[in-house]
Amino acid sequence: MLSTLEALRPKKRLFLGLLLAAEFFVALLLYGAWLICCPGLANIFEYLPLIVGALLIFVSTFSFGAVCNMVLAVKGLPTLKLFHRYSFALIKFLFPVAVRIGKIFGIKRRQIEGSFVAVSNLIFLKSGIKVPANRLLVLSPHCLQLSTCPHKITRDPNNCKRCGGCNVGDLMKLAEEMGFTFFVATGGTLARQVVKQKRPQAVLAIACERDLMSGIQDVYPLPAVGVLNIRPNGPCLNTRVDMDEVRRVLSQIVE
Ligand code: SF4
Repeated sequence: MLSTLEALRPKKRLFLGLLLAAEFFVALLLYGAWLICCPGLANIFEYLPLIVGALLIFVSTFSFGAVCNMVLAVKGLPTLKLFHRYSFALIKFLFPVAVRIGKIFGIKRRQIEGSFVAVSNLIFLKSGIKVPANRLLVLSPHCLQLSTCPHKITRDPNNCKRCGGCNVGDLMKLAEEMGFTFFVATGGTLARQVVKQKRPQAVLAIACERDLMSGIQDVYPLPAVGVLNIRPNGPCLNTRVDMDEVRRVLSQIVE
């Protein structure tokens, strides 16, 4: 487990740092807006600037607390459950700002998304969640299938002939060995449908940074861990997955 956690360390700082920067930037904007609006608010009601100011301080402090809570979770320290449910909502709100700040420093969106996945995975792994194999759903994208493969596996992965041409066969084999449910989804909508149907206790998703970021947030509060796919042919074509990495993650989350 430690080796996986170590591997994730350089990435997670990026996301948390940018999220904190975005938090400060938004707080500064709110303060500026409050200063400008103060005279107008006072004209409506003399205590209105104070009330609005107090409200903004509360919102800013709360969201700062939620980011700090994520830092604590990543460090493996005790966290406040109160912040958990708001964390993803906050990320959704602050992420576009974080991306813009990152752009100033030449950091690509994909790097930030990858860092989010690393943070989320670390929180998952450090939380010590373990599920029985038969309550785990492993989802992979359709682009993992060899593009020339004639077999239709998106509705039923059992149609895979395990010819060795792509990792779908490897995942099918592993699903049989371990007993988890494996599904190939053509997109986010189908993935969400499968999660609803199968009612797993946890999800292991294989996808690109962008899809993992949205997928992990979509299935919350269901715990989800992500494994990035490998794209030697560019995005969405004959992608691969590091099966050793999949096995390593599975060994940490399956009872
Ligand atoms: S492993 Fe399965 S999905 Fe992949 S090319 Fe072979 S038959 Fe097709």
